[in-house]
Amino acid sequence: MITGNEIRRTFLDYFNKNGHTVVDSSPLVPRNDPTLMFTNAGMVQFKNVFTGNETRPYSRAATSQKCVRAGGKHNDLENVGYTARHHTFFEMMGNFSFGDYFKDQAIELAWNLITKEYGVPEEKLLVTVYSEDEEAAALWRKIAGLSDDRIIRIPTSDNFWSMGETGPCGPCSEIFYDHGEHIFGGPPGSPDEDGDRFIEIWNLVFMQYEQLDKDNRINLPKPSIDTGMGLERITAVLQGKHDNYDVDLLRTIIEASAAETGVDPDGENAVSHRVIADHLRSTSFLIADGVLPSNEGRGYVLRRIMRRAMRHVYKLGSKDPTLYKLVPALTRIMGNAFPELSRAQSLITETLKLEEKRFGQTLDRGMRLLSEETDKLADKGTLNGEVAFKLYDTYGFPLDLTQDVLRGQGLSVDTAGFNAAMELQRAAARKAWTGSGDLATEKVWFELQERFGGTEFFGYDTETAESQV
Ligand code: ATP
Ligand code: MG
Ligand code: MG
Ligand code: MG
Repeated sequence: MITGNEIRRTFLDYFNKNGHTVVDSSPLVPRNDPTLMFTNAGMVQFKNVFTGNETRPYSRAATSQKCVRAGGKHNDLENVGYTARHHTFFEMMGNFSFGDYFKDQAIELAWNLITKEYGVPEEKLLVTVYSEDEEAAALWRKIAGLSDDRIIRIPTSDNFWSMGETGPCGPCSEIFYDHGEHIFGGPPGSPDEDGDRFIEIWNLVFMQYEQLDKDNRINLPKPSIDTGMGLERITAVLQGKHDNYDVDLLRTIIEASAAETGVDPDGENAVSHRVIADHLRSTSFLIADGVLPSNEGRGYVLRRIMRRAMRHVYKLGSKDPTLYKLVPALTRIMGNAFPELSRAQSLITETLKLEEKRFGQTLDRGMRLLSEETDKLADKGTLNGEVAFKLYDTYGFPLDLTQDVLRGQGLSVDTAGFNAAMELQRAAARKAWTGSGDLATEKVWFELQERFGGTEFFGYDTETAESQV
């Protein structure tokens, strides 16, 4: 069986043979983009090259980029444990042309890699194109010999990519793999497309325009290519699995989790092991790239992911710190490809252990309170916002953690009530503060806090201090 590590190697070697410079993955904390929480695509490190603000000594590149999608525009946190294809941390393998080759060669390179190098049977593949992009449809017919019924035209923004309100943009074309009739789901564009039968494996973006303002778009003099293929998804295909979590890269950690907790990896608790494996990857890679748990910004997202994983460890019946013991399994399988992981191994281990100890002090009591309250709910379906706030404030349960627990039982939280309770506490804190110290400074501080307190990225409750735990 071909391993995930070999599949990554094959990808990079193939593009290298085809004139691409192999470039290292950039860190998960973007260096060149303060508006982006985490690197979420292969093109992030090349943004300025695409816009022409930066030049490189090469016009073709290939990478396997570390990505985290757990906040901001792309957030797959709520998908983990529910779909076969989403992780919070994954590798996006990509080839890039900076004004060099365009559509025809991008399609040919992708098709040959998948069908010849990787040997995926052609009849299992279908593609989407943007509905106005007849050029791409014709190229798929010509290069891949695909019949028209396997070239699906999509009119929505799913198949039109843009960097922002202005800047480079263009149609995209995605390659899907059909995992077979026994799995629910319809082809892209169909009413059942949210199922997992047809899984998107590769997105080819054809940057051919520049959006100048809302109404004006021009052709780029030198169009570019940006592509992204999920390593775990193509690995599933090549290892004969339907589910990403059954590939070696994830399975190794799932087995370690099963060994450590003594719970069957495939039984009724399979989901917990999957979430643990996913979250271990994202937290470890984030720590290796310099993010540490905190109560705001990136650090708070990290802490929330960690606590979700801890809740699943707890669900599996382990009351003692456990996640930190799984780190060696991760470095064993990914440490060669990402030496920073091995270098940071002791930092990752110690950080996890400390966080597990801290949250362990309140997790059990919080879970008891939550189950008492849900028992009382009967058929109402919605947890009182004040209870959710108490869990947050006294027991260190981020709101999304409480929501995640409830979702498993078909329940939800009254978020308006939660926000109101939070606001009440803030108002009380404000009142308590104005009576003491330097009034002028405090006034400025609160104004700033009100203005910048909660951004989309940093989520709710970023200001609440360490007292949570
Ligand atoms: P989906 O529709 O399945 O959520 P996407 O359209 O959001 O995927 P893109 O933004 O096009 O994904 O990213 C390029 C590729 O990266 C995808 O084709 C897929 O192979 C992979 N990918 C995207 N998100 C994830 C994820 N959360 N976990 C694993 N792989 C992913
Ligand atoms: Mg997505
Ligand atoms: Mg998609
Ligand atoms: Mg896509």
